[in-house]
Parts: sequence; C-alpha cells; structure tokens
Amino acid sequence: MTTTDTVPGILTELAGASAEEILADAARRFGGRVAFASSLGLEDQVLTAMIAEAKLDIPIFTLDTGRLFPETYDLIDRTSKRYGVTIHTYFPAAAEVEKMVDRDGVNLFRDSIEARKRCCEIRKVLPMRRAQIELDAWVCGLRTGQGATRQKVEVAEWDYLADMVKINPLAAWSEERVRDYVRAHDVPYNPLHDAGFPSIGCAPCTRAVAAGEDARSGRWWWESAEHRECGLHYRTGHWADDGTSPVAPPPPDPADVAS
Ligand code: SF4
Repeated sequence: MTTTDTVPGILTELAGASAEEILADAARRFGGRVAFASSLGLEDQVLTAMIAEAKLDIPIFTLDTGRLFPETYDLIDRTSKRYGVTIHTYFPAAAEVEKMVDRDGVNLFRDSIEARKRCCEIRKVLPMRRAQIELDAWVCGLRTGQGATRQKVEVAEWDYLADMVKINPLAAWSEERVRDYVRAHDVPYNPLHDAGFPSIGCAPCTRAVAAGEDARSGRWWWESAEHRECGLHYRTGHWADDGTSPVAPPPPDPADVAS
C-alpha cells in the first residue's frame, strides 16, 4: 500500500540513480504491483528496451484509443517482436464510445475543450484507470523538457487521480540523450518522429511542428498550451504547472480533468 508519504523516501533513495537503476528499484519495491504505460513515443521505447533487456518484472501496456496513426500500430507489432514482450492493449468501452459518437459526433474534439476532454476521458483516461486497478505504481516516460505542462516532472511523484506512485525514470533526460540512446541501441521507433512529430498521440489531434517549437505544440494545437494534456498526467498542483502550484495540493475533481 502506497501513500503520498511514499514519494519523498523514493526521491531520496534514488537521487543520482540511472534510469536502469530506477526501473530495477521499481520492480523490486512494488513487486507485482507496478506496470509501464507506454504510448510508444521515443522515451517509452527507451523504457521498453531497458525493461526487456534487464528482464524486469514490469508488464508493459498501451491504450488503443481507436484513433491512432497506422505507424503506431506497426510500431506495437515491431516492438513486441524485437524484444519478445507482450504489449497488452487496453481499449475503451465500446458502448461508451458508441454513445459519445452518436450524441456528439466522431470528431467532437474540435467543438470545445470540454468535448475534447470528454473524448480523452472515454478513449484514454477510463481505460487507463482499468489498467491501473491492481497497481501501487506505474511507470511512464515523462521528461521535464517536454513542454509547458511538464516542467516539474520528478523521478517519483504522487498521482492524485490514480492514487498511486508514478515513476518517471527519464525525468531528467534531454531529448538529445533520448535520441542518442535510441540510435546506440537500435531501438525501434515511430517514423513520424523523423517527419516533425516529437509527440505522437491520436491522429486527428497530432500534427508536425517546426524545428525548435515546444514538443507538445503539435498536440491539440487549437487549444492554449496549458490545456495540452490528455488527463492522464496530474502533478503537484495542477495540470498546467506554471511553477505556482502548492507542494501538496488537494486531489483534483475528476470532472475538472484537462487534457
Ligand atoms: Fe479523442 Fe483526440 Fe483525445 Fe484521442 S487525443 S482521445 S481523438 S480527443
């Protein structure tokens, strides 16, 4: 059983640890109750390689929203074969998707931020919660350098929505370091990254960005920067952390999930 008090101890113990050491620690510390949520992005591919190569007891799963790029499906297949791992796929509840699409249209996310949140909630957040039911901790590939909403990412955080520890082994890695690792270890990756897509999500909500632009600026580009999260990542204070958040905020109202 983990609580918010679990996090400071982890941060102290893991100060200066490598990503591989952080993953090994997570497998030991949360034995059987930790999993890795992969979005198949470059960072997540690095973590998959590390987990597979060290044969860590950290199951890997992903969320299939039904709106992913064909390249992403191909990458799931290539990655499973390359590392001999199962990437378990969680799908949204068919009845919920059908009801939403009947009522709001298949591209409701263009209509308003609220409609976009609703789509992310049904296609991403609820399947994620289902994937997390048996867990005390989850691993993900967030980095501080991924844009305005991620500047405060730490190696270990308390996930207020999931009510468990979130481990970010690559929190301090630069984009260049991620790319170097991918090259050096011949890690399979999404070819869209070579076409100007630093962050890849659902096809209708992701576009290429110009060199030097914020890595998240190609996601939900019609919304302001502080909204560009899908509701899976809540950190110390609020979704769009501008540095003014309290250290120990109250849990957010799930109905207020930004994306
Ligand atoms: Fe829906 Fe877009 Fe969110 Fe995907 S990213 S779940 S298509 S709103």
